[in-house]
Amino acid sequence: MRILHVATELFPYVKVGGLGDVMAALPGAQRALGDDVRLLMPGFPALLNGIRDLQAVGGVPDLMGRGEARLLLGRTDTDVPIYLLDCPPLYQHPGGPYAERGDSHVRFAALAWAAAHLSQTGAVGWQPEVIQAHDWQAGLVPAYLGQHGGPRPRTVMTIHNIAYQGVFDRGFLRDLWLDPAWFHPEGIEFYGQINFLKAGLAFADRITTVSPTYAREIQQPGMGAALEGLLARRSRELTGILNGVDTRIWNPSADPLLEYHYNAKSLSAKKLNKNILQTAMGLDASSEDPLFAVVSRLADQKGLDLVLENVAYLIQLNAQLLVLGTGDPTLESGFLEASKAHPGRVAAVIGYDEGQAHRIMAGADVILVPSRQEPCGLTQLYGLRYGTLPLVRRTGGLADTVVDANAHSMMDSTATGFVFTEPTSWVLGETIGRACHLFRSEPKTWAQVQRQAMRQNFSWEASAKDYRAMYVGM
Ligand code: ADP
Repeated sequence: MRILHVATELFPYVKVGGLGDVMAALPGAQRALGDDVRLLMPGFPALLNGIRDLQAVGGVPDLMGRGEARLLLGRTDTDVPIYLLDCPPLYQHPGGPYAERGDSHVRFAALAWAAAHLSQTGAVGWQPEVIQAHDWQAGLVPAYLGQHGGPRPRTVMTIHNIAYQGVFDRGFLRDLWLDPAWFHPEGIEFYGQINFLKAGLAFADRITTVSPTYAREIQQPGMGAALEGLLARRSRELTGILNGVDTRIWNPSADPLLEYHYNAKSLSAKKLNKNILQTAMGLDASSEDPLFAVVSRLADQKGLDLVLENVAYLIQLNAQLLVLGTGDPTLESGFLEASKAHPGRVAAVIGYDEGQAHRIMAGADVILVPSRQEPCGLTQLYGLRYGTLPLVRRTGGLADTVVDANAHSMMDSTATGFVFTEPTSWVLGETIGRACHLFRSEPKTWAQVQRQAMRQNFSWEASAKDYRAMYVGM
């Protein structure tokens, strides 16, 4: 089967969040099942510089009034064929992939248009049978495919986060080469504006999101960011398929970013990583005090204001807190102030740092993911694999992947972390207290839960098989 993924992030070249990790792993897992899987991405500088063997395979003389665009074909670091849409006025700018310069609508509409163009015209000598469009940036793919007419590949719209939809002024319709006839409530119209994600959800053959629980949640009133009605209507075509862990990148027994390697049988080496991490971060190097960590975008969705409200309680419990993240300025300054107020007990690194993320995952005792909404979440999966127990809210993929350590689950050895439901600082505090108690007073049980966590197998192979079954049934 020929499959094309249209997306805007790919680790290690361009990554803002989990989408980058997904695109780095899923196509390879699908190729291992024998399919011809390729990517299409914007020609961002990091990709033009990093992708191997690039050669021009097609072009568009004037793409949405922004000049000539070339389609280049090359190979990723994992040998996946990738098309880059090279159009310098659109993609060669400083800043991240989503840096706002007032032209986001054209940048991502052009990507979707190019996907339809290469699929339906044979312009690059390869045509997919299935196109999977990821997030709002690729949302217009199914719309353009319908507009171009003629045979078209089957389409899947994948929601990695319903909160981001790509909503733009209706005045842009013609600039985006969109047929005004699509502008109605059953199409791309959304409260008088154009909504890219909605276009994908309305016109794709299938809709997927990244966990079964999130697939149910986003159909509930008030939880689908105003798209719940459409999602509920398309319920039969909507599936939740969990993301996996890329074990080439996240594996404590071979991670090149760690000083000490370990596995479920050599957990004492994890303590050495903790010691190094504490020292490097200016925390008291004490193995007896539980180290709680956050590695996250600092966005409202992630519920980290609840962690900030628990700093005093963590101090009272003689625990430590380490935060690596960037985003909301109020949260950034809040965590920085907490670190100044509690030297040796709280540390905050504001920024994005892949190496630190790995060292924190290996050295911390608990990874905190108190999200208000979490489509799948990857950091709790990395925590499980590194024996760093996830403490999560019962939502989306967090609910599907972590088993709360309670009397029941500890008795039958299924516990893998700590789960709470009410998104309040009080309930988070109570759960932090529970984790501290287990860590200090029952170290043997703690180690058992760690081993059970490390045994979990959220593999990309399983996800790839689920996607394949869905494509075949389309
Ligand atoms: P989201 O996609 O909503 O940001 P996920 O949990 O799905 O959340 O994926 C987050 C990914 O980004 C993980 O690989 C995580 O390790 C990484 N990450 C988030 N913030 C940082 C940071 N400040 N430094 C390094 N990696 C980060």
